[in-house]
Amino acid sequence: MTGRRFRLSPWLVRVLIPDSVIGVYVLWSPTAPVYVGRSDTSLRRRLLEHARTWPDVFFTFDVAFSPEDAFRMECCLFHALGDRTTNIDHPQRVTSDDVRCDICPNTLLPLLEYRRRVTPNPPGTHRALQADMRGMTA
Ligand SMILES: [Zn+2]
Repeated sequence: MTGRRFRLSPWLVRVLIPDSVIGVYVLWSPTAPVYVGRSDTSLRRRLLEHARTWPDVFFTFDVAFSPEDAFRMECCLFHALGDRTTNIDHPQRVTSDDVRCDICPNTLLPLLEYRRRVTPNPPGTHRALQADMRGMTA
């Protein structure tokens, strides 16, 4: 993610971002994040759309090399910024493929369960902690 916040002006978006680039962005009030988004087709076009409806906003952005990478990046931003933005819905998956959010519990819990089965008693791990990780009381 670019550290510098740029004013969301159409001319500046056109100068900074080629049309075919995809990626993620954060819209900012001068000092606080207000919205996280991505485009799997044209980051420039998406930001130009926002420029028409969000006056006095700034943006940061990052380029992705595939829609799947853009999805993962958006998920990270969505979860990291939490309720500080106006985003309500979780980022949508690219298609019906297998790429899932790496952060959501429905992804993490099966991974933790798999690790528990593979190493039922990992050294140095207390049973109560293992049970707590599964959402159960010891
Ligand atoms: Zn998630």
